[in-house]
Amino acid sequence: MADSSLNIQIRGIVQGVGFRPFVYRLAHQHGLTGWVRNGEQGVEIRVEGHGDATEAFLAELRSCTPSAARIAELTANPVAAEHFTSFEIIHSQGDTRPTVRISPDLPVCKACLRELRDSRDRRHGYPYINCTDCGPRYSIIQGLPYDRPLTTMKGWPLCPACAREYADPLDRRFHAQPVACPECGPEFHLHNGEHVTGGNAAAIAATVELLRSGKICAIKGLGGYHLACDARCADAVRAMRERKYRKEKPFALMVHDLDTAHALVHFDEAGEQLLTDVARPIVLAPARVELPHVAPDNHELGIMLPYTPLHHLLFDGGAPDALVMTSANRSNEPLAYLDDDAFEQMGGIADAFLVGERPIARRVDDSVVRCGPFGPVILRRARGYAPSAVARISTQHTILALGADLKNTITLVVGGQAFVSQHIGDLQHSQALRAFRETIDDLLNMYEVDRERLVVVHDTHPEYASTRHALSLPATKIAVQHHRAHTASVLAEHDAWDEVALGISLDGTGYGDDGAIWGGEVFVGALNAGFERVAHLRPAKLPGGDAAATFPPQAAAGFLGDCADLPDLTEPPFDFPPRYTEARQLADRDIRTFVTTSTGRLFDTAAALLGFTRAMTFEGQAAIWLEQLARTGTADGGYVFPDLDYRPLLEAVIHDRLAGVPTADIARRFHAGVAAGVIDVTLRLCEQHELRTVALSGGVFQNALLLEMIHSRMRRHSHLRVWTNRDVPPNDGGISLGQAALAAHLIQ
Ligand code: ZN
Ligand code: ZN
Ligand code: FE
Repeated sequence: MADSSLNIQIRGIVQGVGFRPFVYRLAHQHGLTGWVRNGEQGVEIRVEGHGDATEAFLAELRSCTPSAARIAELTANPVAAEHFTSFEIIHSQGDTRPTVRISPDLPVCKACLRELRDSRDRRHGYPYINCTDCGPRYSIIQGLPYDRPLTTMKGWPLCPACAREYADPLDRRFHAQPVACPECGPEFHLHNGEHVTGGNAAAIAATVELLRSGKICAIKGLGGYHLACDARCADAVRAMRERKYRKEKPFALMVHDLDTAHALVHFDEAGEQLLTDVARPIVLAPARVELPHVAPDNHELGIMLPYTPLHHLLFDGGAPDALVMTSANRSNEPLAYLDDDAFEQMGGIADAFLVGERPIARRVDDSVVRCGPFGPVILRRARGYAPSAVARISTQHTILALGADLKNTITLVVGGQAFVSQHIGDLQHSQALRAFRETIDDLLNMYEVDRERLVVVHDTHPEYASTRHALSLPATKIAVQHHRAHTASVLAEHDAWDEVALGISLDGTGYGDDGAIWGGEVFVGALNAGFERVAHLRPAKLPGGDAAATFPPQAAAGFLGDCADLPDLTEPPFDFPPRYTEARQLADRDIRTFVTTSTGRLFDTAAALLGFTRAMTFEGQAAIWLEQLARTGTADGGYVFPDLDYRPLLEAVIHDRLAGVPTADIARRFHAGVAAGVIDVTLRLCEQHELRTVALSGGVFQNALLLEMIHSRMRRHSHLRVWTNRDVPPNDGGISLGQAALAAHLIQ
């Protein structure tokens, strides 16, 4: 006789992570009857049994969840008993709103890896092996609820053996939607010119041979194609750079195992944890070795571990133990994920293509993270993280926030949860703009959003492609200023809706309230009240506007305009090129000259004064160069930066350079000066406004040295708490979340 009957609703990451089989086994252990099903709100459970048993069941449900699952909310309500005779997994129900969280893609698990390497197992060497604990999710889902007919695996009917496993609640592959085997599943082929090597083992072996002989292979992965080559083969890496038109931007590496990782970079415990995290991101860490052409002028290497069964098979088969594994794209275009596009775009780059038959539903790049003094910093949020919800935003409205034009991401708020898309890219490229539109459609379709009732949020920049797209949509529109969005992203992640905080937003570029190029902004305010600008970097002229962002001497021409006793910078030791003089003339006559408070351009100016006088080949390059230089300096103390007035700071840089002080020491004192200046302003304003919370955001906070200096100095001021971004990037990848959070307040 059942004396307890409960209806349990669970929200969180509970689909596609082995949750229903886990519930099934748990119910059987406790002798309960009822059912479990995937709903569009998450997972729903009905259990009947003795009160003790249902209590114990509930306790274990909360405490022993499968490793990849995350329960955000669990409610249990008593209901009338229906006197079930058994416990079953029943069909998904599809009539309520789809606010269920979709699981990110998962790396191959230990059990599957064991089978992969076991010559007696029927999936020995099978590159698509997976189970309820591992394998593709987001990258194969075409609709919700997560069931095989709504995935890119729908074209491969299960063989009897796989069907048995899929239907057996006690099997590891029970309801594993992408389950497959060599009998019934997709396979890989190697295309080398006209020659096609079929069959998984032969295709993989031939790929290994090509990689060992210094060739470049396009390899289909989870969320797109990679270009791979031997990282220790300088000729191969140089060829990759030349063919990809990627002059200096660092390449990421995939390494055989943890030992190889340790041999290449310095990892502390936190770094190792990130590297082996279920998201398997690219982790940036200080290099131990120099690999020619992999990361020029950079003390860091980006490393990831193999995460698909195919990657393991390549390394097991003898591939070089460190492979360059970079997104398959031409310079700044988005990652290729469809076979035809890959062949078309990579034809002149890759020597051969290792193509898997399983289609990729959507493009998902590798994520990039780094350890920092405030915890891990996500620099690019994509595979392994997207599209998890990152914040709760309490609003009745459905909000679509379109982000910024650089490092674009999109945030959709539905059912009070903020889902942030994977990294999309820089929207000035037409391909990326197409990816942007596709991602919007994808998210709106996935969550069955009523487009008529959508609130669309965009940046205040009138020239942004994302702004123009927003304005073309038939929806209620809200504009949010860029740097307020940066600050809001931090507070939203910390669920701090009424906390009045000091927001420090140090950035490269953003459209200000006055039409100037902002990027050194200090705000006081709260998510539920908005943010008032209370301080900012001393305004400088910027000849050429945003175009100056690629040429440090051009930024310098503006920033040095009202510095005292400026020497001729076209002379040694500065040796600025003629373009500097031209930019000075523009600035003096106010032709094509804008006003800026950009901290990014301030860093560029310092970099120019210390020797970076050429054009950048990727965004942020000069600031990264300056940070690397500063890391090799040993000088203590910093230059003064009173009330964010950069003049004494830059005058000191010029003075010391003329005096022959090593540039590394100057770079270090510059960083220390910025850190101390920011902290002085923070302390003053926090006292004045009686605040105890400080939110740091903006692209400048990707600078790990600056963060370390701020962190160590702030320890002396323990009455203040300093928050940084955790789940979204401090760069413009976090803008869409901040926009959504501020819009939720503005609609009320
Ligand atoms: Zn597995
Ligand atoms: Zn099969
Ligand atoms: Fe920004």
